Amino acid sequence: MLNGKTALVTGSTSGIGLGIARALARNGANIVVNGFGDPKEIEAIRAGLESDFGVRAVFIHADLSNPDEAVALVRKAETDLAPVDILVNNAGIQHTDRIEDFPPEKWDAVIAINLSACFHTMRAALPGMQQRDWGRIINIASAHGLVASPFKAAYIAAKHGLVGLTKVAALENAKQHITANAICPGWVKTPLVVKQIEARAEAEGLSIEEATRKLLGERQPTERFVTPEQLGELAVFLSSEAADGTTGAAFSMDGAFTTW
Ligand code: NAD
Repeated sequence: MLNGKTALVTGSTSGIGLGIARALARNGANIVVNGFGDPKEIEAIRAGLESDFGVRAVFIHADLSNPDEAVALVRKAETDLAPVDILVNNAGIQHTDRIEDFPPEKWDAVIAINLSACFHTMRAALPGMQQRDWGRIINIASAHGLVASPFKAAYIAAKHGLVGLTKVAALENAKQHITANAICPGWVKTPLVVKQIEARAEAEGLSIEEATRKLLGERQPTERFVTPEQLGELAVFLSSEAADGTTGAAFSMDGAFTTW
């Protein structure tokens, strides 16, 4: 379905980004892998995409807290593989603290990676999409792009901002076959969330199982994690021709997190 297309998935060495990269590759897209991790594990991910799905995959290092590296990532994708047809802005970090205790450098880092980097990659990739009259931008926001929780000031500001940025990109490119949509996951069991479960278990003297049940029970009525594979299928749909008329939207896949 996506044969001949090139997808850049930021933060695809782990969790949701990896699930999305594999789903896009399964549907024929060539993949640019990006993110941090052990070089051997990253090479296994890259090689696995090629051998499992018969597509081309390259790894390009970029620290997305740095605007120049975000732009260089898009440029290097063009030279190492091909111009970016599908841009998935997925890399993200979390920090929790009350506003008055929130270290300013943590605020800056979360905003830089979760919001500003998405602007920089979009700014770099859009002219090529416009020339080719085809493109897909998929921004991985969050249920926390639509509703708030305490202690996540930077993350929630970034994700609400990302939903807004997505709408602007959709409007500015509406006359062309370029769509921009946000995906808003609820809880997904990835390293980012496992850290939060562990912190909670420790703070409240709970077992990991109890802390997990509490986390899901409070906000996610299905009491089941959403999975990277499920999110991957949504990204495949948004990348498809069938989604040509779908733009400017924020898609919840959140086990009814934002319903109550
Ligand atoms: P994860 O920690 O498993 O993966 C994050 C990825 O981003 C990794 O590949 C990491 O190396 C990369 N990354 C981090 N900082 C980077 C930087 N400076 N430059 C380049 N890459 C960097 O987390 P995840 O849960 O898979 O999160 C992926 C996205 O999904 C994030 O934007 C997150 O906010 C969002 N999200 C996650 C959940 C959840 O419950 N896990 C829910 C809603 C939204």
